[in-house]
Amino acid sequence: MNIDLTNILSHMDTTENVECTLENERFQYGADAYSILNNKPFTLNLVNVMGQKLEVRGETEIQLAVPCDRCLEDVTITIPIAIDYEFRVSEEQIVPEEDEEYSFLTEDYRELIVDAMVRDEILVNWPDKVLCRDDCKGICPVCGQNLNQKDCGCDRVVLDPRMAKFQDIFNEFKEV
Ligand SMILES: [Zn+2]
Ligand SMILES: [Zn+2]
Repeated sequence: MNIDLTNILSHMDTTENVECTLENERFQYGADAYSILNNKPFTLNLVNVMGQKLEVRGETEIQLAVPCDRCLEDVTITIPIAIDYEFRVSEEQIVPEEDEEYSFLTEDYRELIVDAMVRDEILVNWPDKVLCRDDCKGICPVCGQNLNQKDCGCDRVVLDPRMAKFQDIFNEFKEV
């Protein structure tokens, strides 16, 4: 959703608490999209400080369904969102800082794009590793079986071709 800033920008030393919900049901990250599992409302606090500064603050948590890096089963991850911005204001307008591009403001700087702010926070706090459990066994590279559920019995030892004949000898020896 977008927050229209016209009112807060034109009223010096006022505060607005805006209840926000996300429009997006999924979080797009490169070619992947992850379902947002908890789209619960949260509050953004907007303060016009002496007509010179607009402060935007709010906290929430986003839960996403993300595949485990090893076995690809969906894992629920929780990402903390802490929005904390200050925009320079002059003559009831947001004035961009030099070199600053605000992806979460509309082009005319009159509206705040809540989804874009949350998106930036998700990117910043994205976990290095997503595992369903620390000792996830992953999937079998031969048949694709999820090895946490059962062992498929595939021979997953990749042998050097020169070693293969020793393996044969070893197997023959076992059969005796
Ligand atoms: Zn896993
Ligand atoms: Zn297998």
